[in-house]
Formats: sequence, C-alpha cells, structure tokens
Amino acid sequence: MQPSTFWEEDVQICLHEFENPADYYGSINPPVIMTSLFAYPTYDALIKAMKDEHHNCVYSRGTNPTVRFLEYKMAALERGESAKCFSSGMGAISAALFTLLEAGDHVLIVNNIYGPVLQYLTYAKKNNITYTHITGDCSLDELKKNLQSNTKLIYFESPATMTFKTLNVKELCDFAKSHNILTMCDNTYSTPLFQKPILSGCDIVAHSLTKYIGGHSDLVAGCLISSSKIIDEIFYKGYLLQGAAMSPMSAMLGIRGLRTLPLRIKAHESNAIAVAEYLKSHPKVTAVNHPIYMKETTAYNEIYGTTGLFSFEVDTDDLDKVNAVLNTLKVFQKGVSWGGFESLAVSPHYGSFDPVKNKGVPLGLIRLSIGLEDPATLIKDLENSLSIL
Ligand code: PLP
Repeated sequence: MQPSTFWEEDVQICLHEFENPADYYGSINPPVIMTSLFAYPTYDALIKAMKDEHHNCVYSRGTNPTVRFLEYKMAALERGESAKCFSSGMGAISAALFTLLEAGDHVLIVNNIYGPVLQYLTYAKKNNITYTHITGDCSLDELKKNLQSNTKLIYFESPATMTFKTLNVKELCDFAKSHNILTMCDNTYSTPLFQKPILSGCDIVAHSLTKYIGGHSDLVAGCLISSSKIIDEIFYKGYLLQGAAMSPMSAMLGIRGLRTLPLRIKAHESNAIAVAEYLKSHPKVTAVNHPIYMKETTAYNEIYGTTGLFSFEVDTDDLDKVNAVLNTLKVFQKGVSWGGFESLAVSPHYGSFDPVKNKGVPLGLIRLSIGLEDPATLIKDLENSLSIL
C-alpha cells in the first residue's frame, strides 16, 4: 500500500483545523449551537442575510455554525472546495441526485453499490430518469458500450462495499470528463484518509458519516463534497427543499469521530487483515474479498489503505446454510451498517435474493465489519462457526 503523503496534514485537519478555542471561552471543543433560527437586530439585516442563505445563518435547516465546523473539515480532508452535511448518507446521495438529474437523463452505475441508491433511481423512473448498472467487467470498453447520448452522471463505489472490487478512479473520471459527464463517488469505505477521489478528477464525493467517521455506532449522518458551484446548487434544491438537514448535536458527534479517526482506521485495518489472512487459509472458505488480495486485478494501488470491511464466500447457494453460520457466531453481532467499534456479520441477501439490489453478489457471501476487539477473539468465533459447514 502506498503511504498517503497527506496523512500528517489530514491528522491536523481531523484534530484542530478550523477550530479556534479563543473564540469560545477557550473550550477545546467548538460550541454546539442548538437553535432552530438566527435572529437579527433589524429587518434589513435579516433580508441581507437571506440573500445568501448558504453562507449566512438564517435557519438551521439551511446553515448552522456547528455543522459548518464539520463541513469545513470534510471539504479540507477530501481536498474539495465545499461540503454540505446531511442527516444521513442517503439524505446526501438523494439530494445530489434530485438536484443534478433532469427528466430524460440517464445514469451509468459502475461496480456494486449501496442497494437503496438503486432503489432511489428505480423510483426516479417516474420522472423519466433511467439507469444502467454494470458490475463485473467495468473496463473503459464496457463503460463506452453502456454510455447513452443522455448519460448525465457516472455513479460508482470503489472499493465496492460487498464485493470489494476496486476501480481505476482516475481513468474512469478522465473518461467521463472527455464525454462531458459528471462523476459521483461513494467514498464511505475508504474515508478521506485512504482515498481522495476529487484529486483523481471526480466531481462529487458522498459519505455516510454513520460508518467510520462517526465510528461509535451512535450517529446517522451524511456529507457531500464538491465544487462550490455544485454544493451551492445542491444547497438550494436538494438540501433546503428535501430537508435532510444535519442537527448540531450530530455535527458534534461527527467532529468527535474525526478526532480519533486516524487511530481507529489503522486499528480496523490491521485487525481486518489478521482475520482475512485466517479466512484465506480456511478449507471451507472459497474466496476472501479484501482489496489486499485484488492487487493484480484491480486498481488497488489507488487507495492508501484498507479498512475493517471485507467479505468472504462459502461454497453454497443455500441461504439457510449461510444463515446457520451467522446464527452460530457469538462475538460478531448480526446487524446492518458497519464502521463502528463492534464487529458485525451479515449476508447481503437477508434470506432471499433480490436481483436488482444484489446484482453480482454471490449467495454464499458473508460480509464482516471488523471492529476494535482483539483479532484473536474474532478468529476463534469464526473458527467455531465455520466448523458447522
Ligand atoms: N453508502 C454506503 C456504502 C452504505 O453502506 C450506506 C449505509 O449503509 C450508505 C451509503 C447510506 O448511509 P446512511 O445509512 O447514513 O443513510
């Protein structure tokens, strides 16, 4: 893995950047400004503020100073011009799609992506917005074959958070630019510490802050990072009108999460590699889908690190058997989401196969979110569980 030349700077952004304790009584944490609105001494001052509601504080469904601290940090970490935080990752993604897509537009989705984004675009069909989803071979040739004259956006995840296939982000973004097509990347897996898609030419980056950035499984939040022009447009349409605003308390949890993100992400990474290595040599395991094993076939070198999320496969198409393996795990809790302190195991199929949501995801696949437990504890749990096969 290539070391990130940004690491030192990023740690400073996570811990200190944009904060000035002298402005708020020396408090080492910024204030949580719990207010729904901001009042002005004169009506003229209010009218003036409302002329630039994105950059002035008028109403907390729009702009709030505590949320801004987190937005400044997220924009800086991604090396983007501007950021907007939302009440969830889906709030962020759907606001971007709602804002940027017009009736008659086509979206090309590349790689396995978070299922509900596909569901959202399926509903968008009623507005005459269509999509094509390619998984497996995601080469430029394949991209070219699936382009349409009305393709407005290429949406992708890399690495994909079920199969962990990694794309060549720079190549994809260069290709899109040469065809005048916008690109949007869900960078939740890598966090800005391990991948910076904007530096590879990507137009919009989305995050579910619910995962590693929150880190303690007590926050649901999202964020978009892009040019000031695009974030401004999203602010006035998808953000203000759809109303998935981030609360000041959630912003504080996001800021707190960033403080320890550099430490936690390295611990998740090394724990996950230890567990993946164990599974790799297990006779009942047919594949371990972790970016470190995809060096030869994917653009693995584009990311600066891996995290705690990967999947493995057992040789069965029988979902009852997969459920039995999951039911036998004791330390791994069974739950959706990922990126918290606790280890989780899940089958993306939840007992039945959905060909839209889970296109290209094998039936015997189990996804692990490796938490901060000792990896030896997790390996013993898996050993016991896999012995039933
Ligand atoms: N993107 C990915 C890769 C996810 O796994 C998730 C949620 O699991 C989301 C986006 C949506 O985020 P949220 O649950 O915060 O809305």
